[in-house]
Amino acid sequence: MNCGPKCLPAKQGSELTKTYGKISALAKGARRPKSAFYGAVDTLSLSQVIFLPRRTGTLDLLTEAKLVRRFRPCQWSLARLYAGYYLAELLTDLTEPHQPLPELFRLAVDTLSDLQTRETEFNYQPVSAIVLRFEMRALALLGHGLGLTHCAGCDQPLVGELLAPTADIDHLSNRRTGKLFFSLNDTSLVCRECCHERGRLLGFSERAAQVLRIYQDEDDHAWRRHADWGCHPVLRQIMDYQWQSLLNRPLNLTSAIRQMAKKQRQAIGN
Ligand SMILES: [Zn+2]
Repeated sequence: MNCGPKCLPAKQGSELTKTYGKISALAKGARRPKSAFYGAVDTLSLSQVIFLPRRTGTLDLLTEAKLVRRFRPCQWSLARLYAGYYLAELLTDLTEPHQPLPELFRLAVDTLSDLQTRETEFNYQPVSAIVLRFEMRALALLGHGLGLTHCAGCDQPLVGELLAPTADIDHLSNRRTGKLFFSLNDTSLVCRECCHERGRLLGFSERAAQVLRIYQDEDDHAWRRHADWGCHPVLRQIMDYQWQSLLNRPLNLTSAIRQMAKKQRQAIGN
């Protein structure tokens, strides 16, 4: 018998556990009104579970589940609820069964906490910034971190010191002047000389790379100081391409997240 100390349902039937990674489990009788699982296997809830692992290709059997915390990102906005479901979709699609990823689990719990924290004048973190932070850290934890300092072809350094918090980021994309490129095949920056025959490229600026570095870094404070920057369309574009290339299909909530980032960008611009 295995006992996952805590469990976060990522989708109906799939849960991300802290100790055993993703499990696909059957919770018998969970839909009954007075079920012992009531609320504990819902999407976006944190629970303590006991389950019986089964052979490969069959469902594990959930024998006990006790709700610890239900995340309610929708208290403040529908966009936060969509972002929560987007996280659940990413967790389900990016993880392999029974592959322990405790840091990713912690990241997911912390991100859901961020999503349900009320926005105030003193604590303003746009949803798209919270989502971008999750995506960049999740990529790094899963071994797909983006190369944001050197050229993937010739290895020359392309990006200087990190930006100061007050630096202007009006022009994150420099598609026209095109000094840097991001190669989707290499998941890394490439210089102008090396960009040929690298497959799909995105025009990129040094500033965009610096912003993404801040969001990819372990430091959990720096990105919060640059929360407005996380709404920039070029960053959303690069994340969408990244997931498309990793999963070979777009995520179901891609367009909802893109719309949300666009609206927040407009709100900040006003
Ligand atoms: Zn190069």
